[in-house]
Parts: sequence; C-alpha cells; structure tokens
Amino acid sequence: GRNMAPFVEAEWGREAYALMRRVKSLADPEALLNPGVLISEDPEEHLHHLKALPEVDGEVDACMECGYCEQRCPSRDLTLTPRQRIVARREIGRLSSEGDAHARAAIEVDFPYAALDTCAVDGLCATACPVSIDTGQLTKKLRASRHGAVGKGVSRWVAGHMRLVEAGLRGGLAIAGLVERLGGASLLGALTRLPRVVGVGTPLWVPPMPSPARAPAGREPVDPTAVYFPSCLSRTLGSLPGEPAGPSLLETMTALGARAGERLLVPPDAGGHCCGVPFSSKGYVEAHQLAVNRTVAAMWRWSREGQLPVVVDTSPCTYGLRTCRTILTPDNQRRFDRLTIMDAVEFASDRLLPRLDVRRKERRVVLQPVCSLVKMNLTPHLERVARACAEEVVVPLDAGCCGFAGDRGWLVPELTASATNREAAQAQAAGAGGHYSSSRTCEIALTRATGQVYRSHLFLLEWATRNDASFGNFPRGK
Ligand code: SF4
Ligand code: SF4
Repeated sequence: GRNMAPFVEAEWGREAYALMRRVKSLADPEALLNPGVLISEDPEEHLHHLKALPEVDGEVDACMECGYCEQRCPSRDLTLTPRQRIVARREIGRLSSEGDAHARAAIEVDFPYAALDTCAVDGLCATACPVSIDTGQLTKKLRASRHGAVGKGVSRWVAGHMRLVEAGLRGGLAIAGLVERLGGASLLGALTRLPRVVGVGTPLWVPPMPSPARAPAGREPVDPTAVYFPSCLSRTLGSLPGEPAGPSLLETMTALGARAGERLLVPPDAGGHCCGVPFSSKGYVEAHQLAVNRTVAAMWRWSREGQLPVVVDTSPCTYGLRTCRTILTPDNQRRFDRLTIMDAVEFASDRLLPRLDVRRKERRVVLQPVCSLVKMNLTPHLERVARACAEEVVVPLDAGCCGFAGDRGWLVPELTASATNREAAQAQAAGAGGHYSSSRTCEIALTRATGQVYRSHLFLLEWATRNDASFGNFPRGK
C-alpha cells in the first residue's frame, strides 16, 4: 500500500481518487488508520517507512505480507493465518539479530502451537498467493527441526512396517469401539487425554469414530484394465455410526468397475503400501522417502510397467503420489515418469460414468471438494459425477480445508471445529439427502461438524446406477 500510494491517482484518475479520499476521511477524519498507505499526499511516500522483511527461509522470503492467502487458511479463526505465521517467524529472526532474548522468548512460547501444530499443511495458501508461497512447506521444515533421533527412528520403522501398523490400527479401533460401547465416549475421551497430562500429545477419541475397515482382499482378473490401489485410510477406517450398512468402498469400486466394463486389479500386497503423506506432513523426511519409494516401485510392478493406470481412492494420497517425484531414487523417477496415477474422482467421471446407466437420482446432495482435489483441478469432475446422480448439487460457499489433515482432527480437534464452522452451517441449511467427498478423514471431519454422514462419491454413483439384481443382497442404502 505504501509502495502504491503515490501512483493511485495516476491509476484511477483524479475524480475517483478524490472520492477515495473523501470516503477515507469519513471513516478516519484524523488519518489515524494506516497513515501513508494507499491514500497519501506525499509523492515520495514509497521511499519512507518501509517495513523490514528479514530473510528467514527460502520458502517464504518472497512474501510481501499482502494477506491474499488469509481467507483460504483453515486456522485463520483459531490461531494464525499464513501471513501471520511468516510475520511471526520474521519477528523471531529480527529479535534474534537484535539480541532481544526476552521478547523473542515471549513469541517462541506460543509459536509451536499457534504456528506449527495448527497448520494443516494443506498448501491452500499457495493457491491464493501472488507468488505461490506454500507456508505449509515452512511448517514441515520447522516440524522436522523438532524431531530427535528417536522420533526419526520410530517413523522409519513405521514406514517400513505399514502392514503391521495398519493391522494394529484396525485392532485398536475395534478395542476402542468396544470400550466406547461399554463405558461411553466421554470415558474414552478422558482416557485418551491422560497422556497429555505429562506432555505427550497423543490422538484423542472424538466421536463420531469409524469402525475398523475389513482388510482388503486382492483381486486379479484376467486381462485387467486398471489397477485399483485402496489407500491406507480406506484399508483402515471403516464405516461411521449412522452410515448405511452395505458394501465397503473397495467392494463398491470393484462392482462399479465390473458394470462399466473395467476389470480392476486389486493388488494382493496393497496392504503395507502408503503414499508417504502422513510422514511428510509431520516433517519425517526419511520415512516419507522410504514409504513413497516402496509404493512407486510396487505401482510399477502392479501396473505391468506402466501399461495400466493406477487408480487411488483417496484424493490427498493421489496428490501426494503425483507430486513425489523429487524425493524418488533415480530408478523410481524413471518408473514414475511412465506411470499414470488417477484419482478415483477422475476415474469415476471419465471412465465409469460414461458407461453406466443412471437409474435413480437423489433430490439434492452436498459436496466437500477436498484441498488436494482443488489443487489437482478435479473439482469439476466431482461435480459432474454428482450432477449425473442428483437433481441438485450444492457446494457450500465456504467449502474449504476441513483442517483434519490426516490426523490433526484427532490431535488438535479444535482446528477442525474452527475450520468447518461456516461450511457446516451452510451444508446443514441445504437440507440434502446425501453428503459426499473423496477422502475418509475429510468425511469424518464434516460428519463431526454437521451431524450428517459424509461418504465417498463412489457410493452415490453406485447407488444411482445400481441394477439390484447385479449386486447380491446388499441393502439399498446409498
Ligand atoms: S499471499 Fe503470499 S505474499 Fe501475500 S501474505 Fe500470503 S504468503 Fe505472503
Ligand atoms: S498450509 Fe494450510 S493451514 Fe498452513 S498456513 Fe497454509 S493454508 Fe494455513
């Protein structure tokens, strides 16, 4: 604003500029608000009182603190916006260089929670930033700097034993569900809060929680047309309370494929493979590399060396896989370049829907286009599927990042509550018969916020195109 001030009149003309000055003086007759910014008599305003922008990290040094990113940020009403994260980081740098340890310590007390723990690292800020700054990348780096040797070792072990970890998570969900039924959700919530008393930030039990998913069975048809890779979220998190009983996501996808003439290969060893996003979002760089390199090598094998597209049923995982090239080994980079990685939304829109007959329609549905879907420019594909299956499709005006970010919704549930506040009110007001998305954790976030069950868009497509005789005895629930 200060840089532009001497030139606003030249840009808008004398008459418009005079109006601006009158409006400003009505609101601020003594020129107390942002003096010298945009409205100024000084032709050299752009040369004075410039804010110092100390260098802190190459990811964010180009930031001019314009604030365009702020509206996209899921933590904007809870803690900080992307701009404020950068400003706080710069202020820490400035105070360090000036040797003001007291003021610096005051900021550093709040920085871990306000700037790091409540950042969803969804990168939506970059989509609004004129210089494409993704403040989430800075968050990941700073999170990485907090990890010690033990944490890094544990993350590498987890990345190398994902099949065991998935089985453990399914078992944990089953036991916790039993405890909830016997003792109530508040007892379980209190139990999961206990480690926090001694400063251990474990996930919290926050209803509604999913039941464990059934471990996926492999499927190897003759002459497959595509590989279906169910994500570790789909392999672990099952149905939510109130969700219609019926086929699982995997069964739904393969049934849709069969009806549309797609012979889907489900790798028998899909379990244990992961896109690596759970590690990268926490700043575990080596575990991320380990997980995603294993998965790309497996995808190469599953896809018959790139001949078959690989369809991923969880949009954040698709995005993570599509953008992992820089951390792959040279061999895996060569494989990656010949792989076709499709999101299930894209597959449903482009390869399933055109070959299916829509037999029934929902009156109105609400959609939650998740951040990664937005970043892959696939929201229109989700809307196309929904429009084919419903008379009316509602995307809430404030639909955005739900702040769940894989596990933030269990670690920092207030972030999800804050991020979904406006969208939830609009979704509830829509009075829709169904709510759909493309990521299980985002569906949990919106279900928690609205009290309406959110499910994969594949369930809607399957229901709308179902030929009852072709789908066994599953009930009609969508
Ligand atoms: S939009 Fe970009 S340049 Fe503007 S404040 Fe946000 S990060 Fe900085
Ligand atoms: S990555 Fe997401 S949560 Fe973090 S600053 Fe950017 S928009 Fe906000």
